[in-house]
Amino acid sequence: MNKYEVLKKFFGYDSFREGQEILIDALLGGKDVLGIMPTGAGKSICYQVPALLLSGITLVISPLISLMKDQVQALNQAGIHAAYINSSLTENQITKALQLAAQGRYKIIYVAPERLETYGFLEFARGADISMLTVDEAHCISQWGQDFRPSYLKIVQFIKQLDKRPILSAFTATATENVKEDIVCVLGLHNPEVLVTGFDRKNLYFAVETPRKKDEFVLRYIREHEGESGIIYCATRKNVDMLYEKLAAQEIAITRYHAGLSNEERRRNQEDFIYDTCPVMAATNAFGMGIDKSNVRFVIHYNMPQSLENYYQEAGRAGRDGEPAECILLYSAQDVVINRFLLDSKEENQDFTEEEAAAVRERDEERLRTMNYYCLTKNCLREYVLRYFGESGNGDCGNCSNCQREYESMDMTDAAKKIITCIQEMRGRYGINVVAGTLTGDDRAKLREYGVAAYASYGSLNEMTEAGIKQIINQMLIEGSLEVTKDKYALLRTTGRAEAVLSGEERVFIKELMKTPVYESDSNSRMAHGVSASSKKRISDILNSRGLKLFEQLRSLRVQIAKEESVPPYIIFSDKTLVDMCVKTPFSKEEMLHVNGVGENKFARYGERFLQEINEFTSGVREKFYFGEQEEFQSDMGRIQMGNGAGAGRKAPKSEFCLSKEQAENFLYAEKYLAAELAEKLNDLRDADTVKKISGAEIFRRIQAEGYAKEEYRNGMRKKSVSAAGEAAGILIGMRMSKNGTEYEDIYYCEKAQRMIVEWFVST
Ligand code: ADP
Ligand code: ZN
Repeated sequence: MNKYEVLKKFFGYDSFREGQEILIDALLGGKDVLGIMPTGAGKSICYQVPALLLSGITLVISPLISLMKDQVQALNQAGIHAAYINSSLTENQITKALQLAAQGRYKIIYVAPERLETYGFLEFARGADISMLTVDEAHCISQWGQDFRPSYLKIVQFIKQLDKRPILSAFTATATENVKEDIVCVLGLHNPEVLVTGFDRKNLYFAVETPRKKDEFVLRYIREHEGESGIIYCATRKNVDMLYEKLAAQEIAITRYHAGLSNEERRRNQEDFIYDTCPVMAATNAFGMGIDKSNVRFVIHYNMPQSLENYYQEAGRAGRDGEPAECILLYSAQDVVINRFLLDSKEENQDFTEEEAAAVRERDEERLRTMNYYCLTKNCLREYVLRYFGESGNGDCGNCSNCQREYESMDMTDAAKKIITCIQEMRGRYGINVVAGTLTGDDRAKLREYGVAAYASYGSLNEMTEAGIKQIINQMLIEGSLEVTKDKYALLRTTGRAEAVLSGEERVFIKELMKTPVYESDSNSRMAHGVSASSKKRISDILNSRGLKLFEQLRSLRVQIAKEESVPPYIIFSDKTLVDMCVKTPFSKEEMLHVNGVGENKFARYGERFLQEINEFTSGVREKFYFGEQEEFQSDMGRIQMGNGAGAGRKAPKSEFCLSKEQAENFLYAEKYLAAELAEKLNDLRDADTVKKISGAEIFRRIQAEGYAKEEYRNGMRKKSVSAAGEAAGILIGMRMSKNGTEYEDIYYCEKAQRMIVEWFVST
């Protein structure tokens, strides 16, 4: 068998995802690898496929006992001999498993790191033919990481004790440079193939919402997404309990998880969630590590988390099956206060010197600020995250709340100049509240005490509100013409870029929602935009009403089988597979094997029962269970755009981006535009009521399709490059520096290219 056959036969997939093949090929060629991929990208396939093709056994070291069981179950379902050895088994069971392993019964064995140094295991390992050793969650070996586990250091000892060094593969979702270096160095990887796949999770829709009443928002959201599975993360146990009780009282099938519950209750609740008995989970961030539930359709953050790292990891638990899913952060200014309190009350590590403790505190503050800016930015949210992780985006993605809202840009450079003058005059002595209060000329006691009325800037922006001034200051912080001290006082200072603002070379824009917003954050409105824009891709928009009935039938068959076999439903078939079954309506084994996620082994187990169900439902007569064209559906489930899919009661669908000749003539050409700027200029011209926005990402896709640029892996990172034809057409690549010091590449469009692109969209 080759890797494609293994992928199809055991996993039921037709093609590899981004990056998987590079790592698999390296491993099959005997090379060590380090794979850095975001949650849900598909790390497991990267070692499971080679494990089946290499001659001997693959050992997988994983810190998460719950995950091991899940993975092994899934492998067994797929017809692969696998086992796990950890402390959840009795000594007898362990002995038995090791005996079978020694007889060569298992291709893949999951072990906890602590197990490696036990006598029984070592004895087995030294007599066995171990082809590969895989280290999952490899960041646990790094002291830099957030969850360093000393037991991971045992891996190194273990390898030394083997007669033959196996191929090593390590995987993690943590991308920072320190951690990466640590893994390579501590594990002793030999000239490894290092691959960092794009951190972008294209199927996830990101949104920041500021509802006045968060619980009402959550309730309405869950009601509108009935039957879908989701997690609601809260900052505190108290919030979890409050939300849980409120929603349970509304007859929502919800469960909860936090460190204050007994072990038994936590286990039970987690199970209820995984088995979809309670599809909604309210939890603190204690929940989720090692939960590999693929059909989580939404992750709502009831409070802002402490860092973007945490946020992306938690939000990333949505949509692991690659299907559209939503990540919504409910923001209120109060969240910053809660988080600062949590930081203040965080127990200090006793081993730290005073200096180290201060450094940690500083780092935490910095992370919190980055998170807060995510909530405040009016620019593309995805872009913001990707930049933070050192990746180049495309300006704007078209699939986040900021990209979808209609904003008006306002030039606030004059106010920005006064803000800078004021901060310089104060010599960096005050924070945002005092600065804003001084500029409006406020007369509260605190300000009198500081004597701010003596500053020339006092009252220089008295026509504005404090909130308005703060918005500009925040924008300037995000853009980098201002900064704050790293301690908790966050005193405002100007940076070198402030000079560019003062001279007028750089302008400061504030985006405000258009006066007739498509989206209304008012709690009485239907959460119009986030929902309707992405709901086009919901199951009910793919399948027609008969199709939905069939889907329900298949889903209950799945639940029934899940109960019989005591495995979670999604291990049998994912939602995506069931939808595809409805669309393709297979009547034979042959046809069933074309369904996404159905391989030979799964077919052998379940195929006939699903075929029978379909047969009964249709009485063997072919009908169409979906909207639109099947080709369109197959080409990319995540991005289907079906005209009639919007359903009744919604607004008429907007047409794809285009410009009339007159509109195009008003385009404001400039020497150079970044992708996002170009998209913004184009969008300003269109008729917003009837025409969809274009995104920088879409423009880049077109540029790629035309052969002007491409994106490919270089040294394990995704990089953009412009072809000779692209350069000739006026497309450039430039390096930029993000705020946290990582460099990233950006595409620039010169006037010539701008003219070409405008021309593309002029409808005749
Ligand atoms: P990670 O460990 O990186 O978080 P997983 O290995 O759990 O991700 O994979 C996430 C999901 O993607 C799983 O449901 C998996 O079956 C699916 N998947 C992985 N590779 C592919 C592929 N090539 N085609 C389709 N689905 C895939
Ligand atoms: Zn976006």
